Amino acid sequence: MEHADVVVVGSGFGGLAAAKQLAKSGINYVLISSTPEHLFQPLLYQVATGVLASHEIAPPIESVLRRHKEADVRLGQVVAIDPDRAVVTYVTDGVRHRIRYGSLIAATGASQSYFGRDDFAEKTFALKTIDDAKLLRAQIERVFAEAATADAETKRRLLSFVVVGAGATGVEVAGQLKELAKRHYHQEVSVSLVEGAGEVLPPFGGGLSEYAKKSLTGSGVEVLVDTFVTDIEPGKVTVKDKAGVERKIAAETVVWSAGVQAGGFAQILAEATGVETDRAGRLLINPDLTVAGYADIYAIGDMTSLNGYPGQSPVAMQEGRHAADIIRRKKLPGTPFKYWDKGSMAVISRFSAVVKLNDRITFRGVIAWFMWLAVHLLYLVGFRNRFAAVASWLIAFIGTGRPGFDEVEPAPTRARVPEKVAA
Ligand SMILES: Cc1cc2nc3c(=O)[nH]c(=O)nc-3n(C[C@H](O)[C@H](O)[C@H](O)COP(=O)(O)OP(=O)(O)OC[C@H]3O[C@@H](n4cnc5c(N)ncnc54)[C@H](O)[C@@H]3O)c2cc1C
Repeated sequence: MEHADVVVVGSGFGGLAAAKQLAKSGINYVLISSTPEHLFQPLLYQVATGVLASHEIAPPIESVLRRHKEADVRLGQVVAIDPDRAVVTYVTDGVRHRIRYGSLIAATGASQSYFGRDDFAEKTFALKTIDDAKLLRAQIERVFAEAATADAETKRRLLSFVVVGAGATGVEVAGQLKELAKRHYHQEVSVSLVEGAGEVLPPFGGGLSEYAKKSLTGSGVEVLVDTFVTDIEPGKVTVKDKAGVERKIAAETVVWSAGVQAGGFAQILAEATGVETDRAGRLLINPDLTVAGYADIYAIGDMTSLNGYPGQSPVAMQEGRHAADIIRRKKLPGTPFKYWDKGSMAVISRFSAVVKLNDRITFRGVIAWFMWLAVHLLYLVGFRNRFAAVASWLIAFIGTGRPGFDEVEPAPTRARVPEKVAA
């Protein structure tokens, strides 16, 4: 059987950070991922709304790591693990491969949660993968194209959007839909943002949440807080508020951005190692990021839960580096991971954002938007992608174009890679 010093599973933020850190000590590793790209998820909404082209936020992981002579990148879905023999099984094009690892770093992320209403998955558009973004983009292009020649009533129906979940993604999508309609298509749209908590951007809270709500409302987004979606039918969404009052909202397009669920490999790993999970299926890992009693298995990022750290890219990246540092003996085995929180940011619309560095230092408005721009440029992978993104942002934010809509590609279908394949 094949052997690798380290196997990294996943090419997202956590997996890539771990791989780069391992390479610093010249440690050979095999990186297995079910998707060929390294996806910059925070900008998925810009692909969906035509600001950016998909390749600008999803370069092939193989090309990202092309200078790492230690890297052996493989496309495949990890479907089983035998933690006692230190063997993982992955499937590529229907063929099963087994590989023995010295250490394993699992970073397989999380998927969307529908809070027990899995039927909502078929009725809504998600924003988790690059195909999700392309699907939503195709839908947006379709409804605006059809609305252009439709009568007033049909137009109203076609251009009705409901966005579920007012975290950063929901706020960004809602704000961007309004902007797209006004500045690019010159059409009236209805956009409702539905949030179960009492405020938008709950992790920001206070003045920043208030500011975000006011900005969205000012741009014409209907913001419904303390409100839950109870049903979704073709063309309409039923919501219920805290007082129990139900209401139906017209919605040709429903975007779901509420909650995450770790399934797939997280579940396989939990069953194999006996590690406990939280209600969202995230692994309750040890402080040093190892899993259950296995000192050679690390799990990081969105598939895990530790000390209430948020499911955000900086956590995944710092955890990836921490696990790699223990493996390359730059940190002692057992060293607890400590998250360095550099703050959070969310865009509301063009030239409007909120930034929270800590409880005392916050920014809002234009200055926050430029901070957001700088940080995202810094973290986008690859010089050419950064250059292309700046060009696209100039076209979309200074001009009124949407270069992402020019991307010529067949629209993806709704079929997704199965989360779990029988072991
Ligand atoms: C729309 C959206 C917007 C976001 N905005 C922000 C933001 O503004 N700021 C922020 O900090 N965070 C944001 N996040 C969260 C951030 O993207 C995640 O916290 C981060 O991606 C987690 O990294 P990860 O490595 O754990 O997982 P991911 O980046 O999701 O990577 C998971 C990887 O595992 C692979 N994989 C999955 N299952 C298998 C398997 N069985 N076998 C092999 N490979 C597998 C996938 O193909 C993928 O490559 C956003 C997320 C989304 C979806």
